[in-house]
Amino acid sequence: MRSSRTKAAVLSVLLLTALTLCCAAPALAEQDGEPLTVGVPANRCPVFYLDADTHEIAGIGVDLMRAAAEAAGYAVSFRTIEEKTLKDALDNPAYDVIMPFGSAIPSASGRPSVLSDALTQTPMTLVTEGGRKQMPALNQLRVGMLRSMSGAAETVRQMHPGIEISMYETMDACVAALRAGRVDALLHNSYVWSYVLQKPAYSDLTVQPAAMFSMDFRAGTLDTPAGRAIMERLNGGIAALSDTQRQAIVLDHTSRRLYRYDFSDYLHQYGLILLLIALLFMALGTIAVQKRRALRLEQEKKLRQLIDHDELTGALSLVGFRKHAAELLTAHPDVPYLLVYGNIKNFKYINDSLGRTAGDELLRFWAEKTQGILSEEEAMGRVEADHFAVLRRAGGDEKTRQDDQHVIDSVRNYFIDRGKENRVQVCGGVYVLTPEDYRKIDVNRMLDYARVAEKRVRDTLKDGYEFYNPEQWEKGKRVADVVNQLPAAIRSGEIQVWYQPQADCEKGKYDGAEALCRWNHSKLGWLNPAEFIPTLEDAGLIFDLDCFVWDRVCQDLRRWNEQGKRRAVSVNLSRRDIRPDRDIPGHFTGLVKAYGLSPSQLHIEITETAFAENPDLLISTTVKLREAGFEVEMDDFGSGYSSLHMLKEVPVDRIKLDLHFLTGTGDAQKGRVIISYIIQMVRSLGMRLIAEGVETAEQAQFLQSRGCTEIQGYYFCKPLPVEQFEQLNEEIPAPAREQ
Ligand code: C2E
Ligand code: MG
Ligand code: MG
Repeated sequence: MRSSRTKAAVLSVLLLTALTLCCAAPALAEQDGEPLTVGVPANRCPVFYLDADTHEIAGIGVDLMRAAAEAAGYAVSFRTIEEKTLKDALDNPAYDVIMPFGSAIPSASGRPSVLSDALTQTPMTLVTEGGRKQMPALNQLRVGMLRSMSGAAETVRQMHPGIEISMYETMDACVAALRAGRVDALLHNSYVWSYVLQKPAYSDLTVQPAAMFSMDFRAGTLDTPAGRAIMERLNGGIAALSDTQRQAIVLDHTSRRLYRYDFSDYLHQYGLILLLIALLFMALGTIAVQKRRALRLEQEKKLRQLIDHDELTGALSLVGFRKHAAELLTAHPDVPYLLVYGNIKNFKYINDSLGRTAGDELLRFWAEKTQGILSEEEAMGRVEADHFAVLRRAGGDEKTRQDDQHVIDSVRNYFIDRGKENRVQVCGGVYVLTPEDYRKIDVNRMLDYARVAEKRVRDTLKDGYEFYNPEQWEKGKRVADVVNQLPAAIRSGEIQVWYQPQADCEKGKYDGAEALCRWNHSKLGWLNPAEFIPTLEDAGLIFDLDCFVWDRVCQDLRRWNEQGKRRAVSVNLSRRDIRPDRDIPGHFTGLVKAYGLSPSQLHIEITETAFAENPDLLISTTVKLREAGFEVEMDDFGSGYSSLHMLKEVPVDRIKLDLHFLTGTGDAQKGRVIISYIIQMVRSLGMRLIAEGVETAEQAQFLQSRGCTEIQGYYFCKPLPVEQFEQLNEEIPAPAREQ
C-alpha cells in the first residue's frame, strides 16, 4: 500500500513538473529562440497577403500577431495555409497556431479548439449591388461568403441565427451570385473589401455602412495543454498591444496601394480603348494586307507584261499575241479577220552587212509603223526574230489598203530612205479566217497556215504576199505523217519500184528504163514521189528509200540477166545521198558485185541542182563512179540554173534534158532554138543526150529532127509496175516510131 501511495505521489510530482514545463514553454522558446509557426490564409489582402516585393506573408493580421507574439516572447514565423478551410488546418500539426478565428470552432476531425483573446475587432461589412436601396433585416438576409471564411461564417450564424449563408469558392463566384440575385449581399472583412472593391469590374458594388458589425479577430489552436499554454502566453502579448499600435498597423496596410491590376482589370478599365486599339491594329493589318496584295498584283502585272511583250519593239510577244488574238476573236465573232505572217527575207544579210543595231532599228520601225495603222480590234506581235504576226480586219476600205501598202513600202525602203542601197525584202503569208476558226479558236493553227503561205513566197526569188491555200497545208501535213511511216512501208511492200521505158528512136526500140518509186499507202492510196521525196530529204530518210530502190532494181536486173534480157536501168541519186561521210561509189560497186551485174547496167542520175550546191564533192563522186564503170547522168538539165561552166567541169556520160521548160509561158520558138543548140552543144562535147517529159508527137518529132533520138516521156510510155514493164514489147509502137 505504502509503495502504491509513494508511486502515486511520484506520478503527481511528474505530472506537475510536466505541466509546469508546458506552461513554461514560451519562456523556454524565448530562451531557445524556438519559433512559433502561425498558419494564415494568404488571399485576404490587406489582412493576409503575399507581399509582391518580399514574397513573404504580410498584412494587418500578420503584423498584429507578430507584435503580440513578440511581446509574448515568441520568435514567430508565418506559413500559408494549404488546406481548404481553417477547420482542416486545425488538424495539421505543422502549425502551432491558426488565424483568424471569430469564435472557437471544432477542427475538421471534430477536436475542440482554444482561442486567444481578440487581437482586434474586425469590422465586417455587407456589400450589395449598386442599385439596391432596400435591404432585408440582418436576420432574414441571404448572404454570400467565401468558402475559406467558413470559420467566420459559423461565428456569424451564432450571432445572427436567421441569416442564410451560401459559400462560394471565389470572389467572382460570390459577385456572380449577388448579381444573379441568389444572395442579397456579400459579407467580408471591411479591410478586405477596401482592397477587393478597387477592382474595376466590381465598381458597381456598394458598401452598406449601416449594416456593419464587428467580429473578434483571434488566433486559435487545438484545445490541448500545449495549445492552451500557447494561448495563455499569447494573451499576455495581446494585452501588451496598445490601441495606437493596433491602429497604426491597420492604417499602414489599408493606406498602401496594394491592389494590382490583372489582365481582366485592364480589359474592364480600358476595354473601349483596347477595343479601339485592336480595331486600329486590325485596320492597319488590313491596309498592310491589301497593300501587299496590290504590290503582288502589280508585280504579277509587270511579269505578265514582260512575258506578253517583246522587249525590243514593245509589240506583243508570241505568247501575248496568241492570248490577245484569241480575246479579240472571242469578243468580235462578227468581224471578218485575216492573219498576216510577215518576215524579212534578207534580214540575216542586213544584220551582217549593216550591223545588228541597224537590224534592231528596222524591227522597231516596222512594229511602230504597223501599230500606227491598227485599230483597237486588231493586234500585232513580234513572234520571233524578224517575224511579225498581224491580226487585221479583212475587206477594209481603200484607205486601209493604202495604209497597208504604205507600211510595207516604208519598211522595204527603210534603208534606201536613209541613204543606203539595201532594199528590205518583205515576204508575207495571209490566212483568211473561216467561220470554223471563230467556233474553235486556235491561234497557233492560224499562224501555221499563214506561215505556210509566207514560206511559199520565201522559197521563191521574189518578195511580196501570198494567200494560204488549205490544200497545200493538208498535203504537207499528210506527207509529214506519211514520212514517219516510211520504215514500216518499206518492210510491208507498200513501196514499189516502177519502170518508165526510154525509147531509142534510131533503133525503134525501148532501150533501158528509169526506175521510179511509188508508194501504195494503205490509207491514202497511191502517193506521188514529188509529194513525199522532198520531205524525206528534209527528214534525212531519203538514203533509206534509195538503198531500197537500188537493191530492188539490182534484183530485177539479175533476174532479167538470167532470163537473157540484159538491160540498163537509170536510178535516181538524191543530192542528199551525197555526203562526205558516205562512200556512194563504194556502195554501188558493192551492190553490182553482190548481184553479179555489170556496172554499165546501172545509170546513175544526179539532179543538175546538186552540181550547183557542192561541186567539189559531186565532181569527185562522179569521177569515181565513172571510173568504177557506172554511167552518170545529169538529171533535169534545163530546169534549174544550168551553167556552161558546169557542163565543162562535170564529167557526165549523158545529159537528161528536161522538156518542161518548153511548156512554160515563154516564147516557144525561142525555146526550140535553145534546145536545138543544147543538143548540138552536148553532142559536140562528146556527151550523150536524152530528153525527158516528152508528151506529144510534135515534141518527139522536133527532138528527132534536131538529132536527139533518145526520148523518155508519156508520149511513149508512162512508168509501169514491174510486171507490166516485163510484158512490154521491145519495139516502139508504130505511130510513135513513125514520127
Ligand atoms: P525525175 O527523176 O526527173 O523523174 C522523171 C519524172 O517525170 C517522173 O515523175 C516521171 O513519172 C515524170 N514523167 C515522165 N514522163 C513524163 C511526161 O511526159 N510528162 C510529165 N509531166 N512527167 C513525166 P515521178 O515518178 O513522179 O518522180 C518525180 C521525181 O521524184 C523524179 O524526177 C525524181 O527526181 C524523184 N524520184 C522518183 N523516184 C525516186 C527515187 O527512187 N529516189 C529518188 N532519190 N528520187 C526519186
Ligand atoms: Mg530522174
Ligand atoms: Mg528528171
